[in-house]
Amino acid sequence: MIVVMKAKASETEFKKVIERIKQENLDVHISKGKEVRIIGVVGDVRRIEPEVLQAFDGVERVIRILHPFKLASRDFKPENTTINVDGVIIGGGKFIVSAGPCAVEGEEMLTEVAFLAKKCGASILRGGIFKPRTSPYSFQGLGLDGLEILQRVKEKTGLPIITEIMSPEHVGLISQYVDIFQIGARNMQNFPLLQAVGRTEKPVLLKRGLMASGEEWLQAAEYVLSEGNPNVILCERGIRTFEGYTRNTLDLSIVPVIKKLSHLPVFVDPSHGTGHWDLVTPMAMGALAVGADGIMVEVHPNPEKAFSDGPQSLKPKVFAEMMQQLAKAAEAFNRPLPFSSERITIPGNETQKGS
Ligand code: PEP
Ligand code: MN
Repeated sequence: MIVVMKAKASETEFKKVIERIKQENLDVHISKGKEVRIIGVVGDVRRIEPEVLQAFDGVERVIRILHPFKLASRDFKPENTTINVDGVIIGGGKFIVSAGPCAVEGEEMLTEVAFLAKKCGASILRGGIFKPRTSPYSFQGLGLDGLEILQRVKEKTGLPIITEIMSPEHVGLISQYVDIFQIGARNMQNFPLLQAVGRTEKPVLLKRGLMASGEEWLQAAEYVLSEGNPNVILCERGIRTFEGYTRNTLDLSIVPVIKKLSHLPVFVDPSHGTGHWDLVTPMAMGALAVGADGIMVEVHPNPEKAFSDGPQSLKPKVFAEMMQQLAKAAEAFNRPLPFSSERITIPGNETQKGS
């Protein structure tokens, strides 16, 4: 249930409504828009009838939320959420690119990719230190040893860092090193993990689960929001279907659906979404076209030798070409540009083969 206050409602009227809600042992979340304040009532709302709150002075209307998520919904917060990551504004209209290797393999390769990403207009560096691999025998990542590498590369390039977190007990340590927590597709419904990152203020990029509906995904976001952390970015990364030509089926149609239902920024990951490097650029262009707030892509100096996800990782030249195309397309879509296509130079002439 949400309570929309009148634009002219006084502070006392506002407080009286909150007091009444709390009498029922219900919790409140406040959304302060340009003109009105909205009170989100959370808990077992059957304890209080909407008419009771409607009768209070200063209340414009009381709405029962039909969605199983509240704080993530546009009813609760009509304006887009913007998230400031070290000066990079996510959800503010610019198309933000996060790029980097699937896994942090070492400092040298991460530094190389980070400088390339920066030069080509990417704003955030990605790199996994914990790799939730399907097989326990595959490379599992450098673990906490990778944190120092991430930190040093951040110092060198100034790019904010996103890395996947897999365990609630790592929240305190990892938050000292990175700028965004990534919750992977396999952990989308790891509720203790969602609650643990929800108790921080650090931005959280929440990937859509392999088999999750949009509604389940938004409820997972609600777990983070309801703990008090408003900084959630959703990321579509493909779902499992009967289609075998691609690793996953990238559901670009969910982007405008989610943007209609929710105020949270939405990213797209065309690398995991397709599994093939030559499908990444077309899907990245698609992400821009459907109104995503940004993308996350995998780049590797030498994909043939990558410890993980080589087949879907872009070589530097292909990445630079993609960034150029995106920059030009963003101009055509009349969206504010985070980088201009002229600034991007294509490194080397090495071609990428196979897919
Ligand atoms: C990743 O981004 O490195 C990753 C493992 O992605 P996902 O959780 O979407 O599979
Ligand atoms: Mn990967």
